[in-house]
Amino acid sequence: MNTKYIFVTGGVASSLGKGIVAASLAKLLQSRGLRVTIQKFDPYINVDPGTLNPYEHGECYVTNDGAETDLDLGHYERFLNVPTSQSNNVTTGRIYKTVIDNERAGVYLGKTVQIIPHITDEIKRRMTLLGKSGNFDIIITEIGGTVGDMESTPFLESVRQLQWEMAEGDCIVLHLTLVPYLHAAAELKTKPTQHSVKMLQQEGINPDIIICRTEVSLPDSVKKKIALFCSVKPDSVFENRDANSIYEVPLKLHEQGLDNIVLKKLKIKNVSNPELTDWKAFLKKLFNPKTECNIALVGKYIELQDAYKSILESFVHAGAVNSCKVNVHSIHSEHITSSNVSEKLKNMDGVLVAPGFGGRGIEGKILAIKYVRENKIPFFGICLGMQMAVIEYAKDVLKIKDATSTEINPQSKSPIIDLMEEQKSLTIKGGTMRLGAYDCRLKEGTLIYKIYGSKLISERHRHRYEFNEKYSKLIEDKGLVLSGRNPDTGLVEVVELPQKVHPFFIGVQFHPELSSTVLKPQPIFVAFIKAAIKHKELNLKSKPKAAKKN
Ligand code: GLN
Repeated sequence: MNTKYIFVTGGVASSLGKGIVAASLAKLLQSRGLRVTIQKFDPYINVDPGTLNPYEHGECYVTNDGAETDLDLGHYERFLNVPTSQSNNVTTGRIYKTVIDNERAGVYLGKTVQIIPHITDEIKRRMTLLGKSGNFDIIITEIGGTVGDMESTPFLESVRQLQWEMAEGDCIVLHLTLVPYLHAAAELKTKPTQHSVKMLQQEGINPDIIICRTEVSLPDSVKKKIALFCSVKPDSVFENRDANSIYEVPLKLHEQGLDNIVLKKLKIKNVSNPELTDWKAFLKKLFNPKTECNIALVGKYIELQDAYKSILESFVHAGAVNSCKVNVHSIHSEHITSSNVSEKLKNMDGVLVAPGFGGRGIEGKILAIKYVRENKIPFFGICLGMQMAVIEYAKDVLKIKDATSTEINPQSKSPIIDLMEEQKSLTIKGGTMRLGAYDCRLKEGTLIYKIYGSKLISERHRHRYEFNEKYSKLIEDKGLVLSGRNPDTGLVEVVELPQKVHPFFIGVQFHPELSSTVLKPQPIFVAFIKAAIKHKELNLKSKPKAAKKN
């Protein structure tokens, strides 16, 4: 069978959940035994989102091979349980960079370099790259942005050319739109969908399938109207109604027959029925929790939920395994002061201090860590969160009052966290952090070792600073255990307090949230939620019962 291509475009508005639809369709096709991957083409000029502030574009998701990518790749991995790579995310910036480098190298000598054919050829080369590996039956390509945006035009032109070049049945286009419900008129409106499909048709693309994001169920009459006005078959209009969980979307689309229609249009025969037993078991646990717990997420980008997407999803996965509803309370680290820290954290069953960059909000993080360390509330620090845990310990227990990171004070006399040696000579910012998966050796008998049940693990990274080895003896003598290190360089990857001192106190330099999937929840998150449940139960037991009123 030829590799088949599905392109997913979006119309009417952004944030309709193209990534979730692409991931859900991929899940359904994968559950039928097909080898599927998803890639995202983003229209912005940054070579990758690594240089973007989380406020601009949400979390930067890092792949095993060290690519800084769009957060939708996180959804792809969480749904498919298959790692993505550098090739799965391409931006306009990357395309232009290749073409301009080629031009300077003389590849197009004598020719005028133009959007068509040079840019579109490079886009098409990348769109079909994973397909040529022979590793996949189906490649789903999500086109970032909204149809009608000036920036995405070369991507759409490339899709048009590919559809024209490929044999019938090898390539289809799925368009996701919004069908708003006007409450005042009690009516669903199809006009925005019609307009966005017209815009797509102006680019020479007729969608094969339309998926309508909607608040309420679409009656058949509305689907028929959309089919008629947009020139798609009536059986090819689907609804994507707001769901309780993004993980329900594959099942909702399957109930309407989306995967069958896709297989028919791609002329794929003789595939098995979807095998979704584990997926359904996960959802059952997710929707029927036996307990709940309150977790504080302390960070500085909390105004935007997408900034901590992978962490929030890891809590969903870890909560479900523990049959526990995890109530995440986002707390802005800049709003934590010594006078309100107790008020903010005393009712929490666990506190996660988030990754981040720069000095803004770090005092609040340090105060939060001191509070949970002293009050034995489960603590989990990720990357900057781990670095702050080390600094807090150095300040409070080692009495190094000016302990800090050179990220915050480059001239510090007490750089407990310092710039990595290999970073010191770097001047270029894009793609130069310590990125991607590295091994980590765990100390036997420690909490982290117990959690993973293995001596050697591998997790993903994204940082420039590290624990300063000069302080290792001092800090270990005072009780903080350096329980994980890189086997080659010795870089400290995990710090923890012994369980006889604190029930759960772990900081990790890596990003465990990037490897949590529905079918493989991340072990530290699972253990953290378990510890939070225990904390809550102990707290309930120790609280004196309210005296009976006479
Ligand atoms: N800013 C810190 C560093 O670069 C932590 C990075 C992070 O939290 N991802 O080392």
